Amino acid sequence: MKLMSTNYQSWGRFPQASQRDYQLQWRTLPIPDISNTILPYGLGRSYGDVCLNDGGSIITTRSLDHFISFDTDTGILCCEAGVSLAEILDLFVPKGWFLPTTPGTKFVTVGGAIANDVHGKNHHKAGTFGCNVPQFELVRSNGERLLCSPTSNPEYYAATIGGLGLTGLITWAEIQLKPIHHRAMQSELIQFSGLEEFFEISANSDQLYDYTVAWVDCGSQGEALGRGIFFRGNHVTEEEIPANWQVPSRTLTMPMDLPSFTLNKWTVSAFNWAYYNKQSSKVIKELVDYNPFFYPLDAILHWNRMYGKRGFLQYQFVVSYADHRIIRDILQVIAASGSSSFLAVLKTFGDLKSPGMLSFPRPGVTLALDFPIKGAATFELLERLDAMVREADGVVYPCKDARLSARNFQAHYPQWTEFSKYIDPRFSSSFWRRVTRI
Ligand SMILES: Cc1cc2nc3c(=O)[nH]c(=O)nc-3n(C[C@H](O)[C@H](O)[C@H](O)COP(=O)(O)OP(=O)(O)OC[C@H]3O[C@@H](n4cnc5c(N)ncnc54)[C@H](O)[C@@H]3O)c2cc1C
Repeated sequence: MKLMSTNYQSWGRFPQASQRDYQLQWRTLPIPDISNTILPYGLGRSYGDVCLNDGGSIITTRSLDHFISFDTDTGILCCEAGVSLAEILDLFVPKGWFLPTTPGTKFVTVGGAIANDVHGKNHHKAGTFGCNVPQFELVRSNGERLLCSPTSNPEYYAATIGGLGLTGLITWAEIQLKPIHHRAMQSELIQFSGLEEFFEISANSDQLYDYTVAWVDCGSQGEALGRGIFFRGNHVTEEEIPANWQVPSRTLTMPMDLPSFTLNKWTVSAFNWAYYNKQSSKVIKELVDYNPFFYPLDAILHWNRMYGKRGFLQYQFVVSYADHRIIRDILQVIAASGSSSFLAVLKTFGDLKSPGMLSFPRPGVTLALDFPIKGAATFELLERLDAMVREADGVVYPCKDARLSARNFQAHYPQWTEFSKYIDPRFSSSFWRRVTRI
């Protein structure tokens, strides 16, 4: 008999969950016959509770870590769903191939990337991860094995991409890789003084740069509100391949949980001020390795410990371009509340539609914010932001969420009832029970 344990957490470490864990050793095995509810669990890089199943069971997928085939003509990789993006990069970058799109950490599994239909800095060019997955296998608890693609079981294909692990277990998937010449990136960092300038740079960059994103100084107010640093870049061309390239290899580990007083409005504001002012000129152009370009946070393993044992909440939403003024209002509310966000990331999404029924990305502007949990005040602030986002017809990202009300979720995702038809009857999650009040 398996015991309940709290060994498996989400990245934000809130809420805590107690669940039984089972490992699926081989992709041809059936889903274990477990009496309570089941949820697949990849690398737990979701910030909130979409990867938790409090009181139920999780199936950990990391042992499904085999590469199955690779077609050098088409760039289509087929691998098991527990393979991580880091493992794909380690193997394929030296051979001249890169991921079609990647989130801000490479420590996520292929199954997790599909189930949250993750997006990256190139959403405006490549769409979501699911846009680049031609097919996958979905195993249901009744033993059925469904080959899912836009033409085979298309309704399960659409429900499973962005389906939060609820439609069954993805055992393997195909991913369309893209060719690159070298691991180095041409990168540019541009200081901008406010949101108007951000939108100007963003509009001028989307055609010319595959990757764009911005960091916003959340501690600034008044004239400086919404200032930040815009990052844009491309993989190097054949002509730009650098000679004698040094691959940076250093990673640090956050050795322990920091005490909760370490991150307060003064230290966070000081960090934001220093980060904004670290550039000695408005524009910096440099050649960098793909690791610091895509994954600056991965350089500090377990950086989530920085927020202490109480954990933290991430809040990410998207609003249409027409409603982008809400971003300014939200930054103002945060600044006035005195709860500065340590990391605020702003990006414009393109209009490539995701195949996922419940997928989060849509054309518009997205802002992601991190807040250390400081008790009721943190939750009240986020409820205020919920109301503002809803007023602007925006939506919150489930993969980052740990506290959205059922009312708000159902208003953001009215298609949830249609989606529910494809949920495996034995699958459930803490997130789903919360937002549907089942
Ligand atoms: C530093 C950092 C940066 C990030 N940046 C971004 C970003 O830029 N863009 C973005 O979109 N996200 C981002 N994320 C979130 C992250 O990409 C997603 O949460 C991702 O889905 C995590 O994958 P995982 O393997 O850890 O899955 P988990 O978190 O373990 O699970 C995620 C979901 O996938 C389901 N699942 C896992 N495996 C399977 C399977 N085999 N079959 C069916 N369902 C499965 C789970 O049930 C769960 O619902 C970031 C996270 C971190 C920590």
